[in-house]
Amino acid sequence: MRIGIDIDDTITDSIEQVRKYMHKYGHLYCKNNELKEKEAELMRGTLKDKTLSLFFQNHSIEISNHIKLKKDAKKVINKLHDEGHEIIIITARSDNYYKDAQEYCSNYLKKNGIHYDKLITAKVYKDKLCKNEHIDLMIDDAIDTCESVEKMGMKGLVFNSEINRNKQTICNRVNNWAEVYDYINNLEN
Ligand SMILES: [Mg+2]
Repeated sequence: MRIGIDIDDTITDSIEQVRKYMHKYGHLYCKNNELKEKEAELMRGTLKDKTLSLFFQNHSIEISNHIKLKKDAKKVINKLHDEGHEIIIITARSDNYYKDAQEYCSNYLKKNGIHYDKLITAKVYKDKLCKNEHIDLMIDDAIDTCESVEKMGMKGLVFNSEINRNKQTICNRVNNWAEVYDYINNLEN
């Protein structure tokens, strides 16, 4: 199976570091730390808000350097890779915020021991790319990404996060990487 996997809030626990640095620097950008209300936009990677975009341009590296892997992410991804699945990492992280997103992300994944076959950066909207890459299953915390790949005939699996938890979806959901492993095994049987 060709498995597409998002990075932020799917492989990593990103929201907690984003919140920490919004709290630390938010007052430099707006009153009453209004950035907090835009955290969902940041996590989705669209960043249309100018203040939010400026905040992230200035602090993305500092934030991302502190972001840690989710429990069992390394163990399960590497196990899937060892079992012959192809792992395609697909992220919205782009050169706008990371200077060289490809290099930054590949160094991060290498440092954290994640085994994968291909890394694709700067993809906020992933459905057409997934089709072109012959992805069978896309795992992402962005519900719209999972639903759009489903509409194009692939499977989308929503990784639950603090941001998507209360939103409705037609897609299956998982809470953790152990559940991802079970979901994939069930698909294959
Ligand atoms: Mg994400």
